[in-house]
Amino acid sequence: MTPAPGGDDEERELRVPFRPADEEGSRILFTPGPLTTTPGVKAAMSRDIGSWDVDCIRLVREIREELLKIAAGPPGLTVTPIQGTGSYGVEAVLGSAVPRDGRLLILKNGAYGLRMEKIARITGIPHRVHDEADDRPIDPSRVGELLEADPSITHVACVHCETTTGLVNPVRRIGLEVAKHRRRYIVDAVSSFGAYACGPGLDIDFDAGPIDHLVSSANKCIEGVPGFAFAISREPAVLEAAGNARSLAFDLHDQWSYMERTGMFRFTPPTHVLLAFRQALRELEEEGGVEARARRYEANHGTLVEGMRALGFRPFVPDELQSRIITTFHYPHAGFDFRAFYEKLHARGCIIYPGKLTAVDTFRIANIGSIGPAEVRWLLRAVGEIVREGV
Ligand SMILES: *Cc1c(COP(=O)(O)O)cnc(C)c1O
Repeated sequence: MTPAPGGDDEERELRVPFRPADEEGSRILFTPGPLTTTPGVKAAMSRDIGSWDVDCIRLVREIREELLKIAAGPPGLTVTPIQGTGSYGVEAVLGSAVPRDGRLLILKNGAYGLRMEKIARITGIPHRVHDEADDRPIDPSRVGELLEADPSITHVACVHCETTTGLVNPVRRIGLEVAKHRRRYIVDAVSSFGAYACGPGLDIDFDAGPIDHLVSSANKCIEGVPGFAFAISREPAVLEAAGNARSLAFDLHDQWSYMERTGMFRFTPPTHVLLAFRQALRELEEEGGVEARARRYEANHGTLVEGMRALGFRPFVPDELQSRIITTFHYPHAGFDFRAFYEKLHARGCIIYPGKLTAVDTFRIANIGSIGPAEVRWLLRAVGEIVREGV
């Protein structure tokens, strides 16, 4: 077992107590969800509640209300939690929003755009794909041209932060084009909601576009644990989705209307995940809300990129397009052994992510979760040691 870098003083700076001591020791996750959670969030799960009980109904209500506050949108927004991961939420929204005689335009510049394309293909949603290069943002005026040219398109779907690369798409400006052409707008903000401010004129602006459905999940920037996704939708857009769903489990309207009537999930609720999520929402508020969290992630990201550059690593995405969520790095040299690099980091308690690009050799480091610059420095020190050993 390789000892972890740093000493006791450095350990005290860490946000989350952590001992990479043995096989089942804790890790610091530099991955975009699951991510490092606080002791409070983990402790919130050490309780059993009944699914049909007032405890669970209150829990679901509080979570829905709090998410609406964070969305800071116009009146008439509504929240629908959906069991599963972020992809389950995206599938429920796409499959429910687009009617049989509609057509979805998917704006793709990475793996999560590709996932929407696969969902559309497998579930039989009529669709078209606009392909952009992995290192280029979607151009809003090009979206306008596509909508102008193809009146059969009824819905447009776009990814906010493409977690494949770390690139951010201009979802607000794309939304303005979609609205100008009077189409419906769906945003995959799974990796960015909670890290980018919502509100009029801000990064995620429910009003401007307007966004009809935004999807995120419990285990990303709200810093909960995996187990459910949620859609934040304009209520008329949910009502419009009635009868469109391609399957029972992924029926957004049915899930929503059942919850509106009863306060409960249609099928078994992920009770422990919900308890953790409510605690995560409380801790987000204590931190100072999304703006404060965004500042912490910015600081993490700045420390990470500066430190990695000093160690000879180069980011894939140009700085001006780069998110504060996750960064893709090129391999530092030909013959770089990522597997060995990963395992040496694992032995030091740090978990990173492989790349997801086909054409270039890369790996990824996320800086979200309950981590601060101290955790990032811990990682950088480990990377420095490994680079000196040679990989
Ligand atoms: C994480 C993520 C998803 C959902 O992925 P799951 O593996 O289903 O959790 C969807 N879109 C984006 C942009 C993501 O980062």
